[in-house]
Amino acid sequence: MSKKEEQEKKGAAKPEKKAEKKGEKGVNALYKIEGDNVTRLRPTCERCGPGYFMAKHKDRYTCGHCGFTRYRQVEK
Ligand SMILES: [Zn+2]
Repeated sequence: MSKKEEQEKKGAAKPEKKAEKKGEKGVNALYKIEGDNVTRLRPTCERCGPGYFMAKHKDRYTCGHCGFTRYRQVEK
């Protein structure tokens, strides 16, 4: 009788599933670097200042920091 076998039975091997994040959007998604120039792809909050990006919505931008909302001008 080996203790090792007992332990292996108890500790049923569970395959560890690592949740892979697909299309992970980090802060890098907000910048576009072209050579020496850094282009910001999102508008920044007027209240919070540069560094606080606003979330893009269908017809507006909102700041998750202060709640500031700026409506986009829809061109027709
Ligand atoms: Zn803000």
